[in-house]
Amino acid sequence: MSILYKFFGAFSIVVALACGLAFYGIRSISSTGDLVVDLYDGPLMGINYARSAHAALNEARLLLQPGPGEAPPKETAEKFEKLLANITDNLQIVRERVKTKDVTVALEQAESRLRDWSNAELQILKPPTGGLTTIPAPFAITRKSEATVAALDDLVEIVAAYGFDYRMQAEAKATAARATMLTLAIGAALAGLTLAIAFAYSMSKPIFAAMRVAERVATGNFTDKIDIRRRDELGRLLNSLAAMQSTLKARADEDEAARISKERLTRMLAALNATNEAIMRAKTREQLFEFVCKAAIAGARFTSMTIAVAEPGSEFLRIAAVAGPGAKVQKGLRIATSDAYPEGRGLSGIAFRAKRPCISNDYLADVQSQAFHEAVRRTGTKSGAALPLLSQNNAAGVLLFLSAEIGTFTPEFVELLQRLAANVSFALEGFDRADEKEKAEERIKYLATHDNLTDLPNRAMFNQLLGFSMQEARRYDRRCAVLFIDLDRFKIINDTLGHAAGDALLIEVARRLRSGVRKSDVVARLGGDEFVILLNEITEIQQVATIARNLLASVDKTMDLGGHECGVTASIGIAMFPEDGDNEQTLMKNADIAMYLAKQEGKNDIRFFSTEIATQSVDRLMLEAGLRHALDRNQLCLHYQPKLDVVTGRIAGVEALLRWNHPELGMLPPMRFIPLAEETGLIVAIGRWVLKTACAQNVAWQREGLPPLSMAVNVSPRQFLDENLLRDIDDVLAATGMNPNLLQIEITESMVMLNVDRAIQLLDSIQSRGVRLAIDDFGTGYSSMSLLKQFPIDTIKIDRSFVRDLPHGSEDKAIAQAIIAMGKALGLTIVAEGVETMEQNAFLTQNACDEIQGFLFSKPLPSENIAELLRLQHVDAPSLQPELSNIILDSGKQGHWISEPVSARVE
Ligand code: C2E
Ligand code: MG
Ligand code: MG
Repeated sequence: MSILYKFFGAFSIVVALACGLAFYGIRSISSTGDLVVDLYDGPLMGINYARSAHAALNEARLLLQPGPGEAPPKETAEKFEKLLANITDNLQIVRERVKTKDVTVALEQAESRLRDWSNAELQILKPPTGGLTTIPAPFAITRKSEATVAALDDLVEIVAAYGFDYRMQAEAKATAARATMLTLAIGAALAGLTLAIAFAYSMSKPIFAAMRVAERVATGNFTDKIDIRRRDELGRLLNSLAAMQSTLKARADEDEAARISKERLTRMLAALNATNEAIMRAKTREQLFEFVCKAAIAGARFTSMTIAVAEPGSEFLRIAAVAGPGAKVQKGLRIATSDAYPEGRGLSGIAFRAKRPCISNDYLADVQSQAFHEAVRRTGTKSGAALPLLSQNNAAGVLLFLSAEIGTFTPEFVELLQRLAANVSFALEGFDRADEKEKAEERIKYLATHDNLTDLPNRAMFNQLLGFSMQEARRYDRRCAVLFIDLDRFKIINDTLGHAAGDALLIEVARRLRSGVRKSDVVARLGGDEFVILLNEITEIQQVATIARNLLASVDKTMDLGGHECGVTASIGIAMFPEDGDNEQTLMKNADIAMYLAKQEGKNDIRFFSTEIATQSVDRLMLEAGLRHALDRNQLCLHYQPKLDVVTGRIAGVEALLRWNHPELGMLPPMRFIPLAEETGLIVAIGRWVLKTACAQNVAWQREGLPPLSMAVNVSPRQFLDENLLRDIDDVLAATGMNPNLLQIEITESMVMLNVDRAIQLLDSIQSRGVRLAIDDFGTGYSSMSLLKQFPIDTIKIDRSFVRDLPHGSEDKAIAQAIIAMGKALGLTIVAEGVETMEQNAFLTQNACDEIQGFLFSKPLPSENIAELLRLQHVDAPSLQPELSNIILDSGKQGHWISEPVSARVE
């Protein structure tokens, strides 16, 4: 309502009140006046009129008192009548003025007396004409007059009494009216005053409030609210003031926000500088995280700053550092890298995955980060920003900034935070690089002391540890043992199954060796298939033997190498400290010598070092050194052992057998140096030479006019695996012009069994050239007749070990018979090796063996002796069956190798 209306409303109420009061007062005053008028008009005038009537009466009485005997004059009657009328009028007036019962009764009384008296008097004064009248006696008249006087006296008295009463009443009424007037006046005044005050209050309160607000607004305080509940002009004014206030407040807020933002930016810049400094100072990642957190909190006053980093193999980030008032809560924070977890769906998880900043300027309004609401509520967080830490463009962690204000993270601010994150990322990359360098250095160091493949210590490391153990053993009078371990067939496996399988085998062997000894013992790999073990604190030598045998057993168990079931054995040589050497080198050398002995004596066994075997090993070293030059120095030569055709008794062919004419040791048999040549790889070149020499010899014999002869050449496993074997054969055949049909390549079962597919392919290729193939030492390897069917084999050579006990050994007999039968069934030529006795010869001949090779007929002989033999056979004797031949030498020394050149004996 308009204030004017209100004002006029209030004013009219006051006026109405005043009017009412005035009216009432006037009424009271007038009623008091009426009382006064009444007093004079009524009772008092009544008294006067009553008194006047009384006076007129007395005058009338006086008038009526004539002298004695005198008749009252006529005028008297008239006067009397006038006086009577006067009395009556006065009484009438009294009647009109005073209308109380008493007065009325007294009036009636007085009037009745007056009438009674006046009638009597008037009879006298005016006697009636025409009739007789009784003139009342004077006495009666007097009495009547007195009664009238008395009645009028009474009336006067009653009227006077009434008048007095009336006056008292009137005065009391007047007093009461005055009191009422006063009360009302005071009431009206109070009401007016109250109204005025209320009005004034209602007007002034908002004005004052507005004034206060205005004063505060003037001083920049916008916190006071203007309570507007009015619709009048004042309300509108206040509304405008409120609007003005809120506009000013908004502006002031904006200014404040801008100021805070500017200040924050300034602080953040300082924090950025501080973090740069922190990055420079930090020596470790943890330090870096801690310094950066502290610097950022000190600068930008966040609720908290958290650095969480990715952990390898974990889907949750590790809280690396936290600072700020909310740090306590943040320490328990869980952040997942995957959005499969609720903890991965907050700002940090998103920033980590997206590799870009993720901001929420009103955290609690953000539904996405609901999982974190509880935590942020506890810390009073309102907004947050997560920035990824990148290392080589991969997410390495997250920086999480939380603020107690909404809208903290303005674009400019986020830009600074990004710079901060970039700085930290850069520092992290620095650490990564340092780590990588350190790792590389460590790796180099490690590789310097460890074997890369098996992770076992290497030779250098082993030597160090051995030295240390020897010192300890010396100090405490203990013993220790060095076990030199060499795998027996490793090279074949490596060459046939490939290096990956070879590596897998070495790793497995390393594992088995490691698990076969105590933790305090040392297992090292020296290289290739050589391992060495140091057993500490040995009390009994038997203890070492047991461990070594257990190791052999564990190595011997078959293993699966890429689908191939493989077995490998090892040979172990053992040297004891202090007995077998007082320094590392001697101990190692002696263990190696013992190992070599174990190998020589059948492999898959252990040998303890002794001074006797030392001598042998010296030979080995000498041999190894000498063998490298044997070819160049023409120390190798071939001897040829004839094979006799059982049916014709003639030489069907010869087998080329290698000899080394050692300058110091004399003529060495192949078993002394071929394993060495295998190990060192020299066999490939030697084998090529053998093939070439044998073929050349064969052609030479024919050129000499001797009959064509089959030439068997042994091929070693290593040669068989050599990719150039086929080419070598072709080259040799081409170079010598030898008929391929005369060439027979001898291989062993084990060579073809290792990689059947390759063997079939290679053998097919060899056979396709017309070259024939023989399985040497048949029965000693992995014999599988059914598999043999797949190979393009022409000949089987029964191993000497089955021939030796013939014909007495029942088992050997059965084996020999079975081999011959099966070979025949496959259409193969059967050759028996190592035939030394007539009985053996007889048995084999009876059992339909095709060819016979052995000392019984001839030892391996130099080429010229063979030529002689051939010539003899050609010219003199058609058959070389024992009973016919007299050129067989040394048939008595069965089974023994004659180290002197056979040719010497032939001569
Ligand atoms: P092998 O191929 O089984 O050759 C037969 C071996 O038995 C020869 O030994 C031969 O002298 C011997 N021998 C023949 N008849 C008798 C006998 O009646 N009694 C006894 N006790 N022994 C007899 P050698 O020449 O010492 O050769 C041994 C092995 O060396 C050969 O066994 C062969 O495996 C290997 N070998 C020889 N020459 C070469 C070669 O040029 N290359 C390769 N890779 N290995 C060769
Ligand atoms: Mg042979
Ligand atoms: Mg043989």
